[in-house]
Amino acid sequence: QDVRALVESNLATIPDFPEPGVLFRDLTPVFADGPAFHALSEALVEPFAGRFDVLAGVEARGFLLAGAASALCGAGLLPIRKAGKLPRRVLREEYALEYGTAALEVHEGELAPGTRVLIVDDVLATGGTVAAAARLVERAGWRVAGVSVAIELVDLGGRAALDDGHETFSLLQY
Ligand code: 5GP
Repeated sequence: QDVRALVESNLATIPDFPEPGVLFRDLTPVFADGPAFHALSEALVEPFAGRFDVLAGVEARGFLLAGAASALCGAGLLPIRKAGKLPRRVLREEYALEYGTAALEVHEGELAPGTRVLIVDDVLATGGTVAAAARLVERAGWRVAGVSVAIELVDLGGRAALDDGHETFSLLQY
């Protein structure tokens, strides 16, 4: 079965969550389905094969996809965490969410200078989250190999917001 159809058939869409007017794309049924989760994890890295060293997952749903994909392809994993979770010296980037604001952090010096990092998340909405992740990777002295997401909410313009020349892949577009 085509990977897009397999993932899409397991996707749940919830109106008015977490607030009225938001159509929330819920990937938990995809994670719960072994073949769909496996196929999605593979599909996210396939377009970047041979062009990255480490996968960066954005907390929290990005951890699931980046973790699974890392194990499949034998790449390392960089957790890009919400503020205040990492125990050593961090770099921090503030960003605006579709609803609210937040900050992301990585450990300084976690990877060797020049490491090629593929940023993975579940959903690209306004692009604020992955743009902050990309700024963190660059400030840390690593290279952004690209951005890979399961779902792109096209009307929210995330791809344009991210347009620093970062190659962006999304499996499904709505
Ligand atoms: P952005 O910063 O691009 O506006 O929002 C992306 C972040 O918000 C992602 O980390 C994603 O997990 C979350 N997000 C925004 N909209 C949705 C949605 O419809 N479904 C899910 N699962 N996450 C969303």
